[in-house]
Amino acid sequence: MQSVLIANRGEIAVRVIRAARDLGIRTIAIYSELDRDAVHVELADEAWNVGPAPAAESYLNMERILQVAADSEAEAIHPGYGFLAENADFATAVIDAGLIWVGPPPDAIAMMGDKIASRRAAEAAGVAGVPGTDEPLTSVDDARAFAAEHGYPIAIKASAGGGGRGMKVVADDSELAAAFEAAGREALAWFGNAAVYLEKYLERPRHIEAQVIFDTHGNGVFLGERDCSLQRRHQKLLEETPAPGLDAEKRAAIGKAALAVAEAANYVSAGTVEFLMDRTGAFYFLEMNTRIQVEHTITEEATNVDLVVEQLRVADGLELSIDQAPVPVGHAIEFRINAEDPTRDFMPNPGPLVAYREPAGPGVRVDSGVKQGGVISQYYDNLIAKLIVRGRDRNEAIRRGRRALEEFVVSGVQTTIPAHLEILRNDDFLAGRVDTRLIEDRMDFTALERATSPTLPEEEELSERTITVEVGGKRFEVRYWSQVLGTPQGPRRAAPRRRPPKRAKGGPAGSGEGVVTAPMQGTIVKVHHKAGDTVAAGEPVCVLEAMKMENEIVAPVAGDIVDLRVQTGDTVASGSILMVIK
Ligand code: ADP
Repeated sequence: MQSVLIANRGEIAVRVIRAARDLGIRTIAIYSELDRDAVHVELADEAWNVGPAPAAESYLNMERILQVAADSEAEAIHPGYGFLAENADFATAVIDAGLIWVGPPPDAIAMMGDKIASRRAAEAAGVAGVPGTDEPLTSVDDARAFAAEHGYPIAIKASAGGGGRGMKVVADDSELAAAFEAAGREALAWFGNAAVYLEKYLERPRHIEAQVIFDTHGNGVFLGERDCSLQRRHQKLLEETPAPGLDAEKRAAIGKAALAVAEAANYVSAGTVEFLMDRTGAFYFLEMNTRIQVEHTITEEATNVDLVVEQLRVADGLELSIDQAPVPVGHAIEFRINAEDPTRDFMPNPGPLVAYREPAGPGVRVDSGVKQGGVISQYYDNLIAKLIVRGRDRNEAIRRGRRALEEFVVSGVQTTIPAHLEILRNDDFLAGRVDTRLIEDRMDFTALERATSPTLPEEEELSERTITVEVGGKRFEVRYWSQVLGTPQGPRRAAPRRRPPKRAKGGPAGSGEGVVTAPMQGTIVKVHHKAGDTVAAGEPVCVLEAMKMENEIVAPVAGDIVDLRVQTGDTVASGSILMVIK
């Protein structure tokens, strides 16, 4: 393999570019119009524009990506995670175009992408799934019967779901009918497949997953487990390996189960088999992710295996460079640094990275795809960086984590850094008593200090500048030298200041309790009412999507919608007025 196109952006694109370049492989980046100056674009050997900011028109634009692969004479495509990584049709199209797909066979992707099919496959391989149904649910009565047998709470899950979406937890019978109806509707809207099934919603389980990798020569290796129990909204925030308190016997059993599940899918490449573990230590198959995962980094740190390099080797038809489970060399923790506000239920907080400086030093690794002056956009997910620390043992890793988190400078957006520091002060976490409900049920982040408004950093006397130009859709970088604004001799020219807009006193909007404003920048994906409708206080009025998350906006007061300013599809800035209720 001489060249690879990386069909992704952000930190994972950077990660793959680095691994490929380590192997001497030419790297071809793609970017949306919003990402012209992104880090992954700068680091690749060449970069091609694939379309406008919305992912559907760029990073998910299969046709355009395949065209770029042809134009750039790429030999292979690495999809990273997210976007097209688990799209079996895309994998097939890549292979049909005569390219190497850096990932598992399309059949394995399809089987594992269907949660019902994957549960069946796991069970056929002798690995029990979370107690649940193995058929699509057809009536609310079936759900009621299941609840009667297993007890509440239960989870209604979209078979095609993923990424933290498509699961409804039902606490008791009164919620069941509405949840069943909504689950099917949402599954169809989000995943194009209305099939849902049931699982017992386990009480305070741990999320433990197994990293495996297979080559095309029949070698498959278990690379240890990761504990990903620290979650909010059923999405991971902090991961560590080894899992605290897991004994060698249990670890071996998990590894064996994971390999069996992967083998059942004729798996090739890196993959993750996820399990939930209850308080008795029994573990159940949850799902398999057929891609490199965000948290692969901690496995790399604890095993000294470069998983992306191994993926590229396997795709090239080579054997794995490891032939048995490596012995972990210490403890590794990953902290996801996201643009979100822990004091407000981890609400996404897109915005500019006014100041940005990563920590460094022994045992500290940062995987990121951003730089100071860049923007965390509402169009993509809100991961700014992954901070990975390694120690000889868990305590050393924790201390190092604390140090590195305190060193990390991010301003312009609220981040999860203060939440991570709080987790590192939590007695349950410190004792290794972790479960998926720890963050949401037993921790309180509302009183954490929020990042204050940033001040722009002083300009250094840099004289080298770069501009980027695009010729025929391909990106070129031009370096030039110029005098910087303000010299040691002359006075610094003050940057023009933007005056806050004047607001008329008692004006029609902008004040008053009936004014509904956007809590963040985003896109209106649904408006529940029309002008003139009467709404109750607390009633949902519209849905704002930002960073792959849907946020229900509710009426602050009861009354009539006298001024409706948005419609479906509108992009709104943080603080802009959506409607006025009187
Ligand atoms: P996704 O595919 O969206 O990532 P998963 O099925 O992998 O969803 O589950 C994500 C998280 O949701 C799990 O790590 C766990 O915290 C929670 N979860 C999922 N299923 C259950 C269940 N049956 N019982 C308890 N928690 C669950």
